[in-house]
Amino acid sequence: GPLVGVLALQGDVREHLAALERSGARATTVRRAAELSEVDGLVLPGGESTTMSRLLDIFELLDPLRERIEAGMPVYGSCAGMILLAGKVLDGREDQHQLGGLDMIVRRNAFGRQVDSFEEDLEFVGIADRVHAVFIRAPWVESASSEVEVLARVGDDPQVPGGEAAAGRIVAVRQGPVLATAFHPELTGDTRVHGLFVEMVEGKS
Ligand code: GLN
Repeated sequence: GPLVGVLALQGDVREHLAALERSGARATTVRRAAELSEVDGLVLPGGESTTMSRLLDIFELLDPLRERIEAGMPVYGSCAGMILLAGKVLDGREDQHQLGGLDMIVRRNAFGRQVDSFEEDLEFVGIADRVHAVFIRAPWVESASSEVEVLARVGDDPQVPGGEAAAGRIVAVRQGPVLATAFHPELTGDTRVHGLFVEMVEGKS
């Protein structure tokens, strides 16, 4: 399989490595520019986007990563990773760096600060049965350009934290080689989203 890196500065790195291996990729950690240059694709894990942004700077990965994304390397961001990939973030820190790659605006911690997490079964474009989605202090996509393909939205379930404001919000997207989910498929044992990403890295999807 292809060599897929997981950015390993912070966040739930191990879970992504395992999900990638189970999806037929060779998975490896990425902490340095030299390691980044070796991989065929990269996962930006969940964690804390402000911290990851700062560490990208400290590890001098910001420019190399932007360059590879611009050159078309497939990237998948989950949760904090989705935030990093968006062109713009609301409720972020002033000095938070955006990698770009997704022509959209995300809102951090969008579903409310009181309730940290919730779960929902979502319809996901290109995946046959519903995907069980785990949201942890998750962002949502506030708005997206027409270049961004919407893959999943939360339902109108009043149980979803954020209530009416949250209903129907976009929580999974793809723009060319860039994939992102506001939730964490790496935590559920369901590898279909990672499988989709590995297919993208292989050029099959
Ligand atoms: N709230 C986090 C952030 O702003 C994301 C949470 C997560 O990745 N589970 O980066």
